[in-house]
Amino acid sequence: MVDLLPAQSQGWQKVESIALDHFSRAGLKEIRTPIIEQTELFLRGIGENTDVVGKEMYNFDDRGGRSCTLRPEGTASVARSIVQHGLLNNGPQRLWYRGPMFRYERPQAGRQRQFHQIGVEFVGLPSAMSDAEVISIAWDFLKDVGLVDLTLEINSLGSNEDRNLFKEELKDWLNHRFDLLDEDSQKRINVNPLRILDSKNNSTKELLREAPSLNDFLSNESKTRFDYLQELLENIKIPYQINNNLVRGLDYYSHTAFEITSDHLGSQATVCGGGRYDSLISELGGPQTPSVGWAIGMERLTILAGEKILHSKSLDVYVIHRGNKAEQLALKITCQLRSANLTVELDYSGSSFSKQFKRADKSRAKWAIVIGDDEASKDQLLMKKLRDNEKDEERKEYIFSMEDLDQLIKKLIN
Ligand code: ATP
Ligand code: MG
Repeated sequence: MVDLLPAQSQGWQKVESIALDHFSRAGLKEIRTPIIEQTELFLRGIGENTDVVGKEMYNFDDRGGRSCTLRPEGTASVARSIVQHGLLNNGPQRLWYRGPMFRYERPQAGRQRQFHQIGVEFVGLPSAMSDAEVISIAWDFLKDVGLVDLTLEINSLGSNEDRNLFKEELKDWLNHRFDLLDEDSQKRINVNPLRILDSKNNSTKELLREAPSLNDFLSNESKTRFDYLQELLENIKIPYQINNNLVRGLDYYSHTAFEITSDHLGSQATVCGGGRYDSLISELGGPQTPSVGWAIGMERLTILAGEKILHSKSLDVYVIHRGNKAEQLALKITCQLRSANLTVELDYSGSSFSKQFKRADKSRAKWAIVIGDDEASKDQLLMKKLRDNEKDEERKEYIFSMEDLDQLIKKLIN
């Protein structure tokens, strides 16, 4: 589990505020579900034979003897909540969520045991258009955060029927080559053969080049749907690649599956994963409800967003002061400027003016307000422009009386 330190939290907030802006412009509403759910939800919603449920969940019994789980992802909880509260009576739900998720994995860069996701779910919408819109929300958001060299990969997993036909064929093919498979894949043949398709083992990968392709098992209807999705993406100018081996980790996907990856993340390359899940809601006791969504990992996203975004928030004013009277005025002006929506930092060092000035420069504030006891006794303050003297010009100075606060604020804003 990892702490988010002050040096990073500004960047996170910035990224989150861009996300919120995109979601609100797309008309999405937020949903917040509890971090703990009954284990049963994930057994049914994600599938017992997946890595997440089989190996990665944090389970415990509560004092009432109920089996509980720290949620490993958001979709199952959102689906549960929608069913429990009958939200579909109000029509399709277009929602977003964010928060911590928990998976017992081997920690490394971009992979943690407590990590954070931002996600979007469109619940009750069957069309390929909704797939394209959901993808476009992720794509535009990531672009706006400043990410470059992104690749969108898409695949169609077909309908349940298509997939079952394919699974049988694939199992048969793999069983004939059992000895050539890595150990992990051998274990998966009967429980979750599709997952073998995205094995990271090199010799298995090589072998799989010759394997039957899910693509050949798609019904005409599924193919038409997938073609149409591609047409829609082309129309909104989102570049994509088809990856027939993209199956994704969770059981509940059908038709569209997609991932957005980056060249700059090393082996943990996927920033965003998502797809269509048409049978999850009915699996949890609701009506048959076609749905599509994605989740973005905040840790990987902020690694990619990097320095630029982490330090983008700038300070308007740094308040420098020395002396008892000055201190009183310094606190007063700080509060008043903040009420006027300015970003203000107050010096606490009590050191010499020149040392405080150095701190002011380092803070990257636009202005310094300087108060000594002299100024304070006249109810005045000195304002100095900080950041526009790259050519070493004299710092521009202004003296204001506290009575002219409005003028002072005007000057600071311009
Ligand atoms: P991976 O193949 O990297 O394990 P996944 O398929 O398990 O990913 P999803 O369940 O689709 O991931 O979750 C969506 C996103 O959440 C991922 O693309 C990634 O950005 C992020 N994510 C998943 N697991 C972790 C983790 N343990 N630590 C940090 N981020 C994670
Ligand atoms: Mg995983």
